[in-house]
Amino acid sequence: MNWIKDRNWFKKIGFKIKKIIKKQPKDSEETDWKNCPKCQKITYKPDLFKNSYICECSFHFDLPPKLRLDSLFDSSYEIIEAPVNINPDPLNFEVKGGAREEYRYIDKIKKYRKTTGMQTALMCGWGNISNLSAGVVCFSPKFGAGRFGPAECEHFLKAANFAIQKKVDVWIVIYQSSGIDVHTGVAGLTGMTKSIIAMNEIKKAGIITFAIAGSPGPVAGGTYASSFFQHDFVIIESKDVENMLFSGKRVTSNILKGTDQIPEDFGTASGIMKSSGLADITLENRKELKGTITNLANILLNKGELEAKNDVEEAYEDQKDFKKTASTAS
Ligand SMILES: [Zn+2]
Repeated sequence: MNWIKDRNWFKKIGFKIKKIIKKQPKDSEETDWKNCPKCQKITYKPDLFKNSYICECSFHFDLPPKLRLDSLFDSSYEIIEAPVNINPDPLNFEVKGGAREEYRYIDKIKKYRKTTGMQTALMCGWGNISNLSAGVVCFSPKFGAGRFGPAECEHFLKAANFAIQKKVDVWIVIYQSSGIDVHTGVAGLTGMTKSIIAMNEIKKAGIITFAIAGSPGPVAGGTYASSFFQHDFVIIESKDVENMLFSGKRVTSNILKGTDQIPEDFGTASGIMKSSGLADITLENRKELKGTITNLANILLNKGELEAKNDVEEAYEDQKDFKKTASTAS
């Protein structure tokens, strides 16, 4: 009965059971029905699609990046492809020997690429939104929980350069990101600095910028601590958005132990709006997004035009005054 004492044997059996469970179809991915985690109602997917993936109870399901771009842009738009030859796994990260699960990280990336049809966790597009030209970046939480690694960073920079070259009116990033990809170490961390520099360049070009906290979230870790708050406007897509925070509730509460209590609404849409004021608007639902962005951008663009017009008129008045003074003096 040595096998009973063999802990590895139990571990192997555990992995096999886990694999079998993983292979079972999850409620919604392989069927035409989606189960709402908030009200428990089961809804027919085509009906959800017509309602921007929002349940009757207002719960926002994840809206795939392609559908997000389709809903934001007017008609046709151009996809900004990921740069080629960017190594998403510079450390050849591998977990082996005594770990709970052994894996090569590159195999996980291949799986993300296969399931999402994307090369990185970002989908980037360029086109028109109402009367505005726009560059849009959208994270996919289905690609490694919206990882931001070296490949995502290069994709982000390519989209930013494109937006600057095309002199777009608005730059929009829809975040659903768990943060910097820990599997890529320092190479991943440099993405924080690079994305902040990219945001500064976009702003220097006079482009109006919008960060959208996509529902159901998260916006966390290094993504939360870098480019997210560099935008002119921070908009939360719905009241259901959670996990807008640098570190999770458990880690944060451990740090605060004995000195403070973590608020109930920590990292939620209401918490962010009420206690920190870090965000500007929480929308009723994501169907308001396009109109809100268009209205805000138009106000700012028209203000710029008005100011330019006023400057010309003032210069003209100054010139008249100068001529008057000059003739009196002579
Ligand atoms: Zn519901």
